[in-house]
Amino acid sequence: MHDPSVFRSMHRERFEAEPAIFVAPGRVNLIGEHTDYAEGFVMPAAINFATLAGISPRNDGRIVVYSENYGEQRVFSAVELPGKGIGHWSDYPMGVAAVLAGEGHTIPPFSLTLWGDVPLGSGLSSSAAIEVATAFALLSLIGTAYPGPVLARLCQRAENEFVGASCGIMDQFISVNGRENHALLLDCRDLSFKLAPIPADVALVIANTMVKHSVAGGDYKTRRGESEAACAVIASHRPGVRFLRDATLEDLEQWGHEMDSKSLLRARHIISENLRTVAAAEALCKGDLEKLGRLMAEAHWSYSRDFEASCVEADAMVELAQDLPGLIGARLTGGGFGGCTVNLVEQESAGQFAEALGKRYAERVGIEPQIHICQAASGAHRVE
Ligand code: ADP
Ligand code: MG
Repeated sequence: MHDPSVFRSMHRERFEAEPAIFVAPGRVNLIGEHTDYAEGFVMPAAINFATLAGISPRNDGRIVVYSENYGEQRVFSAVELPGKGIGHWSDYPMGVAAVLAGEGHTIPPFSLTLWGDVPLGSGLSSSAAIEVATAFALLSLIGTAYPGPVLARLCQRAENEFVGASCGIMDQFISVNGRENHALLLDCRDLSFKLAPIPADVALVIANTMVKHSVAGGDYKTRRGESEAACAVIASHRPGVRFLRDATLEDLEQWGHEMDSKSLLRARHIISENLRTVAAAEALCKGDLEKLGRLMAEAHWSYSRDFEASCVEADAMVELAQDLPGLIGARLTGGGFGGCTVNLVEQESAGQFAEALGKRYAERVGIEPQIHICQAASGAHRVE
């Protein structure tokens, strides 16, 4: 996280006012990929990369938002909030303001400074971090608060409805509700959750492949469509099955032959991933790291072979980690087709692990990766 005292003077100098400061973290998903829209399970952790939001009131009827990351300031009218995003970074904070206004709040004029060290657009959810930090800041100015799960929903709506990006609830939920040194098993059906402790001697090593492929027919929507088609086949026999969350591997054995081959594979990933994710939380709670590592490996190859959402580079990053000292488990994390892998690594080996993995990957793939050694951090809060 950036230094809050530097941040404070930055806001003071620009706006000649004392800010109230809030911080919201990015996240990494340990296991549970493409299970959220099937009303299944995910297990992310908030990380110690975060976005700061500093807010102070104004008396000129304006909303002024400044991002230190972009070195850019935007001005809006507090009485006439925009109704839709324009494809600019300010969509994220303004989307939160618009959603809160839609909930019946009067949005007062304010100055907002934003500054984050979550890498932008790398799959570590800088978008949820900026939304949640803004929401905390705005709500404090308005003088109200929401329960964590409700606030997460409001921020998700800002991204879905205002920014226009289809994302599940995971990112905002963990940014609000994360806990230091814990992962969080989230049931995407009812937003109930359980914290699972990550031992103090375990680091989260996040390795960015530095590639993001656009694959013909390999996007989020196609995958979602294929798995929903599989669900419809099962539901035609068992009407109680509304989402793949409700389906079992036995259902696939019985009715898989009625599905097209791709749908069958996608469903097999999602159904088995739900089982793995719940088992992974159990393993973490019991301190059974060996089992957790095994589940992460199975999850990766299911994601790669059945869901076909990996790529040569991400498979290489996972393979090259396998025999490095200290590794507990490795897999591709996030939406797929590139992005980051998450590696659970014994803390004392983390530095050497990161260095060796970076070297191996550069040799094999010809790209210098970015590798971050992280810890599970707490969710959004006020910074004194
Ligand atoms: P990810 O969430 O994986 O980082 P997204 O594409 O969902 O990637 O969100 C990244 C976008 O969020 C950026 O392009 C930018 O518009 C916005 N954003 C995130 N953090 C900041 C920030 N500190 N200042 C301004 N905009 C930000
Ligand atoms: Mg995002």
